[in-house]
Amino acid sequence: MSWFNYAYEGTPPWDIGRPQGEIVRLTEAGEIKGVVLDVGCGTGENSLFLASKGHEVWGIDAAPLAIEKANEKARQRALKATFLVHDALDLASLGREFDTVIDSGLFHTFSDEEREIFVKSLGSVLRHGGTYHMLCFSDKEPAGGGPRRISQAEIRSTFRRGWRINYIKETSFEAGFGGHAPRAWRVSITRE
Ligand code: SAH
Repeated sequence: MSWFNYAYEGTPPWDIGRPQGEIVRLTEAGEIKGVVLDVGCGTGENSLFLASKGHEVWGIDAAPLAIEKANEKARQRALKATFLVHDALDLASLGREFDTVIDSGLFHTFSDEEREIFVKSLGSVLRHGGTYHMLCFSDKEPAGGGPRRISQAEIRSTFRRGWRINYIKETSFEAGFGGHAPRAWRVSITRE
């Protein structure tokens, strides 16, 4: 079983028991449209927040334990969301399209090779004109533990063809990293 699944036997530092503030702000700004896919949804806080705002939401994660916890939260809160154990590198096999895809902390886990596969995978489920909202560790965060640091240039080169980058904004993750809020990019990218 993967390292991530093992992490969910406890409470990993990114699993903060509430939605990321950036996802709340995006929602309040009206940037989240229609049917939403949450890739690498973890235990589902962002998905469940969007479900509570009336969105149809699917959350997928490769870690079965995370999906188990997400389904349990949905039951307890009487919210409807579809949580599935699924590989973000093979989204086409979900067999449906979404208006919006959100990603809080998945993209920065991929190797260079996986990134290329992920972008194709994303393009197979996000409708033309639909938007991918991503939060990832930024290269302004000093080197050290945690995921890869990502530069703006890397984001631009990964989404160079068939995508339009609407903005890349500086922000930080809310996390339990000993009270430390890692520097992050909030990115909005539309599928052309
Ligand atoms: N979005 C969640 C979790 C972020 S941690 C949150 O904000 O709390 C990154 C998540 O991506 C982990 O839950 C991990 O299991 C998942 N993940 C990593 N590789 C994946 C893959 N190939 N397919 C689906 N999920 C993956």
